[in-house]
Amino acid sequence: MDKPDDPTAWSVTDATPSRHDPQSSTEPPGRSGGDAPHLVDLHTHSTQSDGTLTPTALVRAAAERGLQVLSLTDHDTLSGIAEATAAAQLFGIEVVPGVEMSSSASDGNGNSSVHLLGYYVDYDNVDLRTELAAFALARQTRMERITEKLNDLGLQILPDDVLKLVGSGTVGRPHIARALVNLEYVSDLREAFDRYLGRGAPAFVPRPKVETERCIQMIRRAGGVAVMAHPRDLERLDDLLDRLVPAGLGGIEVYYGEYDDPTRQELRRIADRWELIATGGSDYHGPNFKMGRELGSPFVPLDSVEHLRSAANRPASTSC
Ligand SMILES: [Zn+2]
Ligand SMILES: [Zn+2]
Repeated sequence: MDKPDDPTAWSVTDATPSRHDPQSSTEPPGRSGGDAPHLVDLHTHSTQSDGTLTPTALVRAAAERGLQVLSLTDHDTLSGIAEATAAAQLFGIEVVPGVEMSSSASDGNGNSSVHLLGYYVDYDNVDLRTELAAFALARQTRMERITEKLNDLGLQILPDDVLKLVGSGTVGRPHIARALVNLEYVSDLREAFDRYLGRGAPAFVPRPKVETERCIQMIRRAGGVAVMAHPRDLERLDDLLDRLVPAGLGGIEVYYGEYDDPTRQELRRIADRWELIATGGSDYHGPNFKMGRELGSPFVPLDSVEHLRSAANRPASTSC
């Protein structure tokens, strides 16, 4: 099925991204297969996009699980970062400001949907905020078109049924799926995507396309490092890297919650080959979301954070 906006999406310099020595971290013995959370999680969502915990509750949950570093990477919005940063001071962990942007890389063979994580972006950057506001508007328009299609299919659902689940964040298909569950048209989110919302389903509306290279530039102009999220979703990964690395891509998500060890090892080799920073995270959307998607579930080396920080040219945090 199509991947729900993930249940399953800008300064300072235009210079070549800073290169770094190959990273040497490997998973410490005894921490690999167990359920114990690790120290770093660089991919999480809150109620400011399609997660179910507020930024404060998310940071509290991370602290309670013993994490030291958390990045909040809501889809196409920076609106939760200030709250998460304040909570981080309270709970004694470090929050890396982040965002996940949905982009489209087109070539002669079609379009690839590329999710880009932007780390250490300046979340007060006016240009980035303006661009993201336009993204949010496009998301809202898409949601309204989807509800119209659902109406045409005989389902009585209004944009307000969806918006009341969104709060102050960005709207995505998971919110529409939850509204369909609440209205008892489907029994769970998966059925909502399979029957109505997924690619190829009758109420599917494609996302407006933003070129991946443009998103990379937006992230870098806001002082951040652009990292390719969950790259195993992508076909022709090497072809994509061949054009996105010269365009300023700085990292790739290796330690993703749902990936098994062989996949992570293969991605680690790809990261080393392209001199990309190997990052990782659970893609947490709230408790009991999906296997492998609990806070801190994948091992992510602490030096991922150091490499991101130095690539973004930020001083070390003093918050923990
Ligand atoms: Zn994603
Ligand atoms: Zn995500």
